[in-house]
Amino acid sequence: MDNYKKLILGHGLHHIANSLISIMCVLMCLTGCGKARSVTPATGKVEWGYKAENGPRVWAQLSPEYVLCAEGKHQSPIDLVNPIPAKLPLIPYDYRPTSMNVRNTGHTIEVACPEGSWIEVDGTRYQLLQFHFHAPSEHTVAGKSFDMEAHFVHKSEDGMLAVVGLLIKQGRHKFVFDPIWSHLPAVPGETQRIENVTEDDSLIVDPRFMFSPNDQVEDVAPSRFGNYYRYDGSLTTPPCSEGVKWIVLTTPIEMSEAQIAAFKAIIHDNNRPVQPLNGRKLFVNFAGDER
Ligand SMILES: [Zn+2]
Repeated sequence: MDNYKKLILGHGLHHIANSLISIMCVLMCLTGCGKARSVTPATGKVEWGYKAENGPRVWAQLSPEYVLCAEGKHQSPIDLVNPIPAKLPLIPYDYRPTSMNVRNTGHTIEVACPEGSWIEVDGTRYQLLQFHFHAPSEHTVAGKSFDMEAHFVHKSEDGMLAVVGLLIKQGRHKFVFDPIWSHLPAVPGETQRIENVTEDDSLIVDPRFMFSPNDQVEDVAPSRFGNYYRYDGSLTTPPCSEGVKWIVLTTPIEMSEAQIAAFKAIIHDNNRPVQPLNGRKLFVNFAGDER
């Protein structure tokens, strides 16, 4: 075999080898691409999240149970813009200090609350189940996003949901969140417990201070929300169930740059984009000095 032929043959083999590699890559991808998505072993379902392959745009494709995420017409969050000024009732709330579990769900940091804290909307009482955080905010105000948003999720006896949204912007340190922030679980699935009453019976977290922009609370029970947006929407995570009463407080609270950074170091970009209003009515209530 002369050198020329060797060169041609060698070149040809090289081509074949390259083609084989390409075919193998395609085959590997056909069998293995699905594995790039995290699959929940128990159900075989693709775990929803906030990345391109499992994020808000494709939630409805991940499970038939998530169909409302694409087809629902009363979805949350929304842009809070051009609200209708209305005279709505004050919303009484009574948040009791309790011990709590702080859990990293992989999607958020969630604080589970034992029974005892509640709000009252349209004459119905809703028990506080948990609160959790999004960074950046899910609701926007006239297109403006906030650094974070807290959601306080409540359920009535007949299973209806009411969520209080609290917008958070960077500013002064918010001391009421210190005990929770010192127990932020860094690993998905991890839970940390806060015993809320110390040995000398002093409270660690007085939940009323969570809503107060200036860390002043009235010594009345129950307290009342007076300045808030009100609309009917949905869960902002799969299965995007509708029929949720949304109350978003008009006045943001502040948290320090360090507090926001500490949260974002664990969870960030867990916000669903705003959804169309689709003819729903967005109200705003102003009650002066009331929260
Ligand atoms: Zn939420």
